[in-house]
Amino acid sequence: MKKEDDNQLNDSINESPRPGLEDDRKHIEEQARPPKQSPVVPEQLSLDSKLKFACYPGISCFTACCGNIDIMLTPYDVLRMKNRLGISSDEFLEKYTRSRIDEKTGWPQLLLLMGEGEERPCPFVTEEGCTIYSDRPAMCRYYPVGQGIHRREIEGEVENREFYMLIREDHCRGFEEDKRWTIAEWRENQEASHYDEMNRDWKDIFIRRVTREEDEDGRRQQIFFIASYNIDQFRKFVFESRLLDVFVLDDEYVDRIREDELELMRFAFRYLRFLFGVEKDLELREGA
Ligand code: SF4
Ligand code: SF4
Repeated sequence: MKKEDDNQLNDSINESPRPGLEDDRKHIEEQARPPKQSPVVPEQLSLDSKLKFACYPGISCFTACCGNIDIMLTPYDVLRMKNRLGISSDEFLEKYTRSRIDEKTGWPQLLLLMGEGEERPCPFVTEEGCTIYSDRPAMCRYYPVGQGIHRREIEGEVENREFYMLIREDHCRGFEEDKRWTIAEWRENQEASHYDEMNRDWKDIFIRRVTREEDEDGRRQQIFFIASYNIDQFRKFVFESRLLDVFVLDDEYVDRIREDELELMRFAFRYLRFLFGVEKDLELREGA
């Protein structure tokens, strides 16, 4: 019998300036009639949809979007930002982030820690613009475009379909400019597509729900947090525990994850996918 479960509509990390994962059809219907003042335009866009927009130093609203906003961070965002700042992931997490448990999926979300006061400025914004611009997070790259993932399961096969939406905030004058893009062109121009590629395997876990029954002691959340956001701790875990004895991994691969942080991040995603039953592409050693 054909089983179609498309009631898991998960908004992904770049959905809105105040994002949160959402997970059901009911919510999307509610979203189609957004609450007053929601800046999200209630129309699903594709890569071919058109956008008339430009943003540049000197525009009257320059940096107006860099405060009073919740910016969710992905593992690749954290890697780029902590390396840009030349600090450890522990220090980055401590100084620049806060976390919360997503109500719908149960996974920990990481957010950029904004400043105090009414403006809640981003710690990296100055009058001249973003001080980490070439390493800014994916959500900043996408803006004013939001991104969602429509996840559905048909006969045990999971299909994730990305979609997009516009975020129109009153202060943003970029929509008055004449430059035209498709959403695909905007993603490329902002290197958001590269960030999506780096995080794709992780997002696939992030949009699945972890139930309280599955994670009574919070251990899964803890492992998810470390493997997702704290690459230095994850490295210690890999190389200072018995983990490498548990899986069949060739020496060349082990050397790569030891020396290459990006490869280690990808291994973290593989490990999470294995642990949470998303995909068993890691092989256990006999007797492990
Ligand atoms: S990281 Fe940069 S682009 Fe993003 S909100 Fe902060 S200052 Fe703005
Ligand atoms: S508010 Fe809009 S146009 Fe102004 S700086 Fe931000 S993204 Fe650019």
